[in-house]
Amino acid sequence: MKRITVLGVTGSIGTQTVDVVSHHPESFQIIAMSAGHNIKKLEEIMSLIDVDHICVMEESDAKALSAKYPDKHFYFGEEGLVKIATLEEADIVLNAIVGFAGLTPTISAIKAKKDIAIANKETLVVAGHIIIPLVKENGVQLLPVDSEHSAIWQSMRGGHHGEVSKILLTCSGGSFRDKSLDELKNATVKEALNHPNWNMGAKITIDSATLINKGLEVMEAHWLFDVDYDDIEVLIHPESVLHSAVEFTDTAVIGQMGTPDMRLPIQYALTYPDRIDLVGAKRLSLADIGTLHFYHPDTKRFKALPLAYEAGRTGGSMPCVFNGANEMANALFREGKIKFLEIVDLVESAMRAHTVVENPDLDALFTIDKWARDFVLTKVEEEHAANTH
Ligand code: NDP
Repeated sequence: MKRITVLGVTGSIGTQTVDVVSHHPESFQIIAMSAGHNIKKLEEIMSLIDVDHICVMEESDAKALSAKYPDKHFYFGEEGLVKIATLEEADIVLNAIVGFAGLTPTISAIKAKKDIAIANKETLVVAGHIIIPLVKENGVQLLPVDSEHSAIWQSMRGGHHGEVSKILLTCSGGSFRDKSLDELKNATVKEALNHPNWNMGAKITIDSATLINKGLEVMEAHWLFDVDYDDIEVLIHPESVLHSAVEFTDTAVIGQMGTPDMRLPIQYALTYPDRIDLVGAKRLSLADIGTLHFYHPDTKRFKALPLAYEAGRTGGSMPCVFNGANEMANALFREGKIKFLEIVDLVESAMRAHTVVENPDLDALFTIDKWARDFVLTKVEEEHAANTH
């Protein structure tokens, strides 16, 4: 029986984790969970599973819930997240919070010697240089949940680390895979949120449309699998059947295929190194699919990808700037305040304006993340003011 803390339980990954866990009560139990502001969804989940420790973002929500459910323990804010991420009785923390907010609870959980199932890729992008040594120092496991990284991880079982020649990171291409640069100029939020293959949270769906998501995943793969940026190749694969692959020195390519269903990587992170039935999942029929396509991304239309490689290779604080600027620009696009192509332009401007800090510690990362967000916000407000005068 694995006792799990789920951070971000009300989101796309969080709710699918609840689904996986509820099909295997003999193997898993969620003992703690966190939500942000979606209290309605949280209460729905509470009606399905009996969880004792619950964290929300606001103190007022925690107080109201405490009055309504007096037999449960409620916590709030970052302190609350740390509390449930480090609970004595938890074996594993599945982090499905979106964005930089996932960083502090991840670090606290590792220090408390919990295994980490990591969906929250932003944490690794920003602080891989802190997290990877911390994982080794504390002797815990870092288990990938992102579908591509789960596929790479499964493929890696086909050889030793020293036998890997490169990673083939596949990419559906997002909502705007086939749009021209001209069409992208006026792309709407609704169009960007319409992902062809995956049903995910809003932030990652926009990140998929800009290809920022693939850029974040390149950096995530670098940290998870200790592979050089030169040895990570991104391939557009519209069918999302090959979830990623590894090429070994003897030219063998081993990949993992399946239908697009996030419950598989979620479940595998919880059962590794074993496999159990994925209840309700559709099996892959290669005969029905017939043909699979692969090609290199057009980096003129999607310059986020070369920018991500640049941020990763530069290292130090640059990935934190890439991520923080994107989190703000992505939110501003969803609020209708900037155009689609401005998202990546703003990320690039923040990178150009930043002086790299080598090996930033946690405090420095918080300062730099804030700087990147403020930089984007100020630039957008200044441009808006200039346009309205
Ligand atoms: P969602 O937006 O659907 O869910 C995010 C979760 O985090 C919600 O529970 C939300 O709470 C909570 N949350 C948001 N902001 C905060 C905060 N500041 N503090 C604490 N909790 C917060 O995201 P996804 O499930 O799509 O993605 C989660 C992570 O997993 C991301 O890092 C994403 O990149 C990664 N991922 C997602 C995939 C997917 O298929 N969705 C695939 C691979 C990776 P509430 O809604 O209650 O406010």
